[in-house]
Amino acid sequence: MIKTDILIIGAGPVGMFTVFEAGLLKLRCHLIDALAQPGGQCSEIYPKKPIYDIPAYPEVLAGDLIDNLAEQIKPFEPGYTLGERAQTIEKLEDGTFKVVTNKGTEHYAPTVFIAGGLGSFEPRKPPIKELVDFEDKGVEYIIRDPELYRDKRVVISGGGDSALDWAIFLSDVASEVSLVHRRNDFRGALDSVEKVVELSKSGKINLITEAEVKGINGEGKVESVLIKHKHDGDIVKECDHFIPLFGLSPKLGPIADWGLEIEKNAIVVNNALDYSTNIPGIFAIGDVNTYPGKLKLILCGFHEATIAVQYAYNIINPGKRYVMKYTTVNGVEGFDGEKKEAKKAAVIKI
Ligand SMILES: Cc1cc2nc3c(=O)[nH]c(=O)nc-3n(C[C@H](O)[C@H](O)[C@H](O)COP(=O)(O)OP(=O)(O)OC[C@H]3O[C@@H](n4cnc5c(N)ncnc54)[C@H](O)[C@@H]3O)c2cc1C
Repeated sequence: MIKTDILIIGAGPVGMFTVFEAGLLKLRCHLIDALAQPGGQCSEIYPKKPIYDIPAYPEVLAGDLIDNLAEQIKPFEPGYTLGERAQTIEKLEDGTFKVVTNKGTEHYAPTVFIAGGLGSFEPRKPPIKELVDFEDKGVEYIIRDPELYRDKRVVISGGGDSALDWAIFLSDVASEVSLVHRRNDFRGALDSVEKVVELSKSGKINLITEAEVKGINGEGKVESVLIKHKHDGDIVKECDHFIPLFGLSPKLGPIADWGLEIEKNAIVVNNALDYSTNIPGIFAIGDVNTYPGKLKLILCGFHEATIAVQYAYNIINPGKRYVMKYTTVNGVEGFDGEKKEAKKAAVIKI
């Protein structure tokens, strides 16, 4: 049984940063995530991609951003329940929320922050009979470590940004990259499409359009795929990996049944004040929420977390007043008692 001040559902970048902002207010946090590791989309979908719009980081790999966040929140000793999905929520008579995971772990907290991003990660799978048999035997839906494909023959299918971006990236890593797409035109960014066409002309990407992968062959691992071409008929393409990149279907999962106001698969919050939901004590931050002008960006989620913890403080400490102080003035004192002192700066009078 786990007790905490703020129970955070979703250990993506926004859930993680909540721990820091809550820690400054001396509030303890516990994170639940269905994935085996923290980091949300950054760790699961694009750990090796550079992000360019995190303030003061001209460029940072998504995986490094998560490592840095983990380091930043360490003094506040967050608890983790990983590899478990938050399944049910119940408000007890004393106002405490009880959240139970699919594996039966019980969590109790006066406030709940939902930072569930896109929800549970469900890759869209193409209708290929043998697909499931070859999962992790050469079929991957998410590229976690591009090095896995070094000097290997790779077939990617899909027509969106993910398929285009990875085909471009892997053309420098794999020994052979084929990109199979059902149509002649792509849904991705124009410059990515142009780059793929350019790489196809120079022989670095084998571009096969108006075609679909319909079968997989191999003894215990992928050895070839069967491609059905609209005009040329069947093509057997030898390869070591088949990577269908058709995106992730956004599924809120069990959260959708918790009585929260939902609009277009996202939780409606009060952005004029505190990012609270229609259930007092439950807040929603990051990609999972919606309000007029919402942007699904890490930066915006960090802001929402910072505001929401101030209001959670009032619920956890009724009648107590918290006065915000800059970290440059107060330093950062973790629950481990270690204090990063604010450095006394010289006052310059003009
Ligand atoms: C390819 C790509 C590139 C991107 N580039 C940028 C960029 O350059 N700049 C930028 O700002 N943003 C970028 N984004 C968007 C950015 O990644 C998201 O805005 C960010 O990850 C949102 O963080 P989050 O913590 O709200 O949610 P997420 O990162 O989605 O994390 C949510 C977590 O909640 C968990 N979860 C959900 N439901 C449950 C449940 N019931 N129980 C337990 N766990 C649950 C999930 O497993 C997940 O780990 C990009 C996204 C993608 C896919």
